Amino acid sequence: MVNCIFCKIIAGDAKSYKLYESEYSFAFLDINPISEGHTVVIPKKHVQSIEEWPEDVASHFMVDLVKISKHIKEALKLDGINILQNNGKAAGQVVMHSHFHIIPRRNNDGVLNIEMLGKNRPKMTDERFKELHEQMKLK
Ligand code: 5GP
Ligand code: ZN
Repeated sequence: MVNCIFCKIIAGDAKSYKLYESEYSFAFLDINPISEGHTVVIPKKHVQSIEEWPEDVASHFMVDLVKISKHIKEALKLDGINILQNNGKAAGQVVMHSHFHIIPRRNNDGVLNIEMLGKNRPKMTDERFKELHEQMKLK
């Protein structure tokens, strides 16, 4: 895709610190890391959002994502990792080439306050759970 920074990185037309590459995926260090070793993993095929991922890309990519995560955890001797993936501007996606973030974590590092993500929780009733269940279950 022309003018996509991540497509340029895959093609070698833009610089990156590449960690891994396979037929389906490409991993490199994030230029503006949330923590040291923050890694971006992208499908080589340009897709914008999770619902556009072809099944073969999704399944092969997930195997790579697990492999890369395991490797990073061992290489940096981490206590944990967060894996984040944003879809659409509303969800904080800035680069419109679908990607996963692997974020290295250490005990008490204060890097991400996961509890803060839940500050605006909806009040739920059993009725509302039932409605959502009807609306959302895969048929
Ligand atoms: P998003 O908010 O779209 O989920 O995250 C995009 C990520 O890509 C950000 O963490 C940002 O720092 C990273 N990023 C954007 N442009 C570049 C770039 O040119 N090179 C690298 N290595 N990372 C980038
Ligand atoms: Zn792209």
